[in-house]
Amino acid sequence: MQKFQYTVSRTRKLTTGLSLSIHPEKGVRVRAPFWVPDLVIRKFVEEKRAWIEKHLSKIKPTPTTATTYLEGEKHLYFGQEYSLNIISSDALRRTEAQIAGENISVSVYSGHAEEKRHDEIKEAILRFYLEVGIGVITEKVNLYSSQLGVEYSQIDIKKVSSIWGSCSPTNRLCFNRKLVMAPHEVVDYVVIHEVCHMVHRNHSSRFWGLVAKFDPKYKEHRRWLHRNHLLLTL
Ligand SMILES: [Zn+2]
Repeated sequence: MQKFQYTVSRTRKLTTGLSLSIHPEKGVRVRAPFWVPDLVIRKFVEEKRAWIEKHLSKIKPTPTTATTYLEGEKHLYFGQEYSLNIISSDALRRTEAQIAGENISVSVYSGHAEEKRHDEIKEAILRFYLEVGIGVITEKVNLYSSQLGVEYSQIDIKKVSSIWGSCSPTNRLCFNRKLVMAPHEVVDYVVIHEVCHMVHRNHSSRFWGLVAKFDPKYKEHRRWLHRNHLLLTL
């Protein structure tokens, strides 16, 4: 998957200048005169890739509201909202999170001090996302790679990542833990995208044709990720 997407705005000027800007919400934008061919723009962006990536890595997502990990807070799980339900336990056991009905419930030792309790709840939810993520994504990868007749070497789920997925030349697949918050069809799209890279290691029309065979609505799902990536914060 591309590490970033960019939008192109065309100007009516006859200048030769292509310009590039990076905005925390609007992302990477290229301004180009109307007559410059797409190919030249793609080459331009490719040449600036290192610079763009450097700047993108410095931009922190700006969530509309910070996650508090307090009772009743809504948390996303495969596109559905669940209320955080904190259960005090007298037993000093590992703090665990799980989905229970319409809640994401976390059982935490009552003897922990305030700050420790907060950290325990947060860590339990993050761990839950990571563990669920590995299971669900592995199942999806198995399904699509067997249909395509390709074999991956390894699946990794990244805790912190600016990308949704990647596929290495040795077919090592990597996915973002935040995918557990996205609707299933969007997670499927990311999996399909990376699995298809085991066949076509580029973003050619043949690649997108293959993606479309498994996910005819892939454009919609790609747009969803583009629009919502700042909302999915852990
Ligand atoms: Zn790709």
